[in-house]
Amino acid sequence: MIRVIGGGLAGSEAAWQAASLGVPVALQEMRPVRPTSVHRTDRLAELVCSNSLRGDKLDNAVGLLKEEMRRLGSLVMRAADRSRVPAGAALAVDREEFAKLVTDALTSHPLITIVRSEAERIPDSSPAEPVIVATGPLTSESLSREIAHLVGDDHLYFYDAISPIVLADSIDRAKVFRASRWGRSLGGVKAARASVCGADDGEGDYLNCPMTDEEYRRFYEALVSAESASVHDFDREKFFEGCLPIEVMASRGPDTLRFGPMKPVGLVDPGTGTPPYAVVQLRQDNLAGDHFSLVGFQTQLKWGEQARVLRMIPGLEQAEFVRFGMVHRNTYINAPRVLRETWQTRVKPDLLFAGQISGVEGYVESAASGLMAGRTAAALVRGEEPPVLPRVTAIGALAYYVSHADPSNYQPTNVTFGIIEPLARAPRSKAEKKLATSERALKQLDDWIATAQVPALGSG
Ligand SMILES: Cc1cc2nc3c(=O)[nH]c(=O)nc-3n(C[C@H](O)[C@H](O)[C@H](O)COP(=O)(O)OP(=O)(O)OC[C@H]3O[C@@H](n4cnc5c(N)ncnc54)[C@H](O)[C@@H]3O)c2cc1C
Repeated sequence: MIRVIGGGLAGSEAAWQAASLGVPVALQEMRPVRPTSVHRTDRLAELVCSNSLRGDKLDNAVGLLKEEMRRLGSLVMRAADRSRVPAGAALAVDREEFAKLVTDALTSHPLITIVRSEAERIPDSSPAEPVIVATGPLTSESLSREIAHLVGDDHLYFYDAISPIVLADSIDRAKVFRASRWGRSLGGVKAARASVCGADDGEGDYLNCPMTDEEYRRFYEALVSAESASVHDFDREKFFEGCLPIEVMASRGPDTLRFGPMKPVGLVDPGTGTPPYAVVQLRQDNLAGDHFSLVGFQTQLKWGEQARVLRMIPGLEQAEFVRFGMVHRNTYINAPRVLRETWQTRVKPDLLFAGQISGVEGYVESAASGLMAGRTAAALVRGEEPPVLPRVTAIGALAYYVSHADPSNYQPTNVTFGIIEPLARAPRSKAEKKLATSERALKQLDDWIATAQVPALGSG
C-alpha cells in the first residue's frame, strides 16, 4: 500500500496513477477536519486561486506539459478538459466541477481509501509501503516541523519572495550595461551571499539599468503610490527582514532602495564614466539565457501596477514580463539538495515528495510531479525500476531541473522551454523552435509509453 499525504493537485494525481497501476492507496487529507487559510471546501484538488491552468497550445511549455499528462492518463487533465470554460488559448475550468470530478473519481476507485485527518508526522515508510508527502504550500505546522527535522532546517522554506522576470529580447540593450559589482564575475572573486532573497551576491554577470537622480525620484514616487495586491490573511505575518517587498522598503524613506537592491556602489556606467545615481540589476534566470530577473525586486504590487512602474526603469520601457513578482507563504524544500530525479528523497528512497512542497510552482506542475511520484511509488511496491522520462519531455525536464538546479537560493519553478534540452538543429524562428521542441517531446514520450502501463481513463 502507498500512503499519500495531502489531497491537492499533486496528491490526487499521485493516488490516481498508483491505484490505476493496481497498487492500493490511502490518501490522507486534513480538510475539512483541519482547514487551511486559503482552501474553502472539503473537495480534493481544490484550486485555491485562479481557475486557469494556463496555456494549452504546444507553442507553450505548460501546454506541452498538459499534453504529456493527457497521454499518461492524468486524472487532473481529464477533469480539467471536462470542466473547461472559454478562455482563449488557455485552459480555464469551472473550479467546482473540476474538483468534483477529481473527488468523485478518487472516492469511487476501488483501490483508494480516503482518510480525513491531519498527518502530524511523516509515517514510517518501506519499499512495500512508500509514503508520498504532497501537502502543498500550506503544509500544517506539526508536519512542517517534522519535514524540517528530516531534510534539515536549512532546506525547508516558508516564504516565497519572487522577483519579476522579463524576456531578454524585450530589454533595450542600448540603455543598459553589462557588469558585476567591483568587476567580479562568474569564476571571479566570490562574495558572501547577502541574503536568502536574491539580493546581489557579487557573483556572475549582470545587466545594469542605470538611473539618474531625476529618474530615481520619479520611479520612487510611482512606487510608493502604486497599488498593492490584496493580502490574504496568511500573508499578514511579518516578512523576513531580508525578503521585504521593494514597496515596503521604499516606504521607509526615499533613499532606502539606494542603499538596498538599487545601490550603485562598485558599478561604473561606461556611458558616463561615473557610478550611476541608482541601479537596477538584472540577472540571467534560466540556462537558455532568454529570461532575466530583477535582482532583489520581490514585490506585492498588483500585476498591472508592476508593469507600469517597472517599465519606468531605463531599458525596461518595453519589457515583457514572463512572471510577476510575489511574496507569499509557501512551504517548500530545497529540492536539488533533497530529491532524486524520481521525486524520491535521497536519504530515504521510499519517502517521496510531490507538488508545490517538492519545489515546483503551479497547479499543472504540481499535478505533473504527483503523476510521476505516484508512478515511482507504484514501481517500488511492484519491485520495478522507478520510471524516468527523457529530458526532452516537459515532465522529464521538470524532474531533472528540480533535482539538479543550483541549490543556493533555490525557488520553486514553473515549466519553461528553457529547462528542456535544446534541439540539436533548431529552426531560426522562435515559434517554430517551440513547436519542434514539443513535437520531439511527444514523439519520445509516445515511444516511452509504448513500453509502459498507462491508466485507462474510460468515459466515466
Ligand atoms: C494563496 C495561493 C494562491 C495560489 N494561486 C495559484 C494560481 O493562481 N495558480 C497556480 O497555478 N498556482 C497557484 N498557487 C500555487 C498552488 O498552491 C499550487 O499550484 C497547487 O495548489 C499546489 O498543489 P499541491 O498539491 O502541491 O498543494 P495543494 O493543492 O495545496 O494541496 C495540498 C493539500 O494537502 C493538505 N494538507 C496540508 N497539510 C496536511 C497534513 N498535515 N495532513 C493532511 N493533509 C494536509 C491541504 O489541505 C491540501 O488539500 C497558489 C498558492 C497559494 C498559497
